Order: sequence, then C-alpha cells, then structure tokens
Amino acid sequence: MKCLLLVDIQNGFCSGGNLAVPDGEAVVVVANRLMAEGGYDLVVASQDWHPADHGSFASQHPGRHPFDMGTLHGKPQMLWPDHCVQGTADADFHPALDRARIDHVQRKGENRNIDSYSAFRDNGHEALTGLSRYMIDAGVDRLDICGLATDYCVRDSVIDALLLVPGVTVRVVIDACRGIDPAGVTAAIAEMSDAGARIVTSGEVLQGVKDAAISAHRSSR
Ligand SMILES: [Zn+2]
Repeated sequence: MKCLLLVDIQNGFCSGGNLAVPDGEAVVVVANRLMAEGGYDLVVASQDWHPADHGSFASQHPGRHPFDMGTLHGKPQMLWPDHCVQGTADADFHPALDRARIDHVQRKGENRNIDSYSAFRDNGHEALTGLSRYMIDAGVDRLDICGLATDYCVRDSVIDALLLVPGVTVRVVIDACRGIDPAGVTAAIAEMSDAGARIVTSGEVLQGVKDAAISAHRSSR
C-alpha cells in the first residue's frame, strides 16, 4: 500500500499566512502532480488545527515575542505567531491544493498545553494522533512525505513514521518541501536521512512510476 502524506499545506504557512514559510506555496503544484501521477493508493493530509489560546503562541506568554524561545509543558518551545486557528482561513488548506484527491485528513495541535509538529503524535510523545493506527490498518508499507515546514513538521513526521509504522519505507520528496531556517533545513535533511528516510525529488518519484509501468507492460507481453 503506497501512501503520500502531505504535511500542513495550509494558508497559514504560505505567503500571506500568519506563519508564512518562505516560498511555501511552491509546494502546491508539486504536491498536486504527485497526487495525480505518483501512483498512490492513499493520500493523507495533516492539518495544524489550534485552539485560539494555544500555548505555542507567543501571544499566550506575556512579554514574549514570536520566534522567542519559551517553555511549554516543561520543555523548550519556539513561540510562534498565532497561526492555523481552528475554523479560520489561516487553517484552511491552500486553495490550489487538489483536495478532491485527499482521502484522509489528520488534524493535530488541538491540545493547548502541548505542540504537535509531527502528524503522528505530540512533541512530548504522550498522545498519538491516530495516524499511525490508520496507516497500519490500511497496510501502508511505502510512504512518501512532503510539505511544510521541512525543519519542523516534515522532519518530525518523517522520523515518527519510521518509528511508529512498522516495516514502512519512507521517502522525503524534497522539492515538495520548504523550510523556515536554511541551517535548520540542512540539519533536518541529515536527521531524516540518518533515521532511515531516503531523500528524493518528485522527478525521481514520477520517473519510478513510469519505469514500473513500462516494465509491467513488457513482462505482460
Ligand atoms: Zn502550529
């Protein structure tokens, strides 16, 4: 079962959003192409979905500013601008993302007392979102991951997929990802690779699908 996980391709992380990732919206066209031509059996999208008083927001920490380091749940926490508040346009998927091809949406970040970068569980590793159970039940054994942002939610989702979905092979489609901090992106790529993920381009993914179709055609003759 071949699955594509789109991480947080939401207005809030694209230009004009409350926590815009540089060039974030550039992932949309690549994600659409992957959904249409990548030969996936299942497409899942995660959605950052915070209550208005979420503890990761600098606005909830008097005297602190966005991108200060603070604490949440006893752990160091990057304090973010208010973003992806439930029911707001900021939390919607990017309007150009081909939603009709998404089979399942996994929301995260709903508990105000802890952040959740990973689509699979919170940052304290206390509560699962349910996505690992969903993928195990669906029989996912090949998983491609892309989205926003490389150095936070993509990284943590990739590492958790390898830990929480037994036997899965994971590829990161890197040209369908954008990050916040260039040094953080470099470190995240090394971490994902060290954890066992392959870093690939969408061109390699789509060429692989074409090659498989050609060899299937040849062997059927
Ligand atoms: Zn968030």
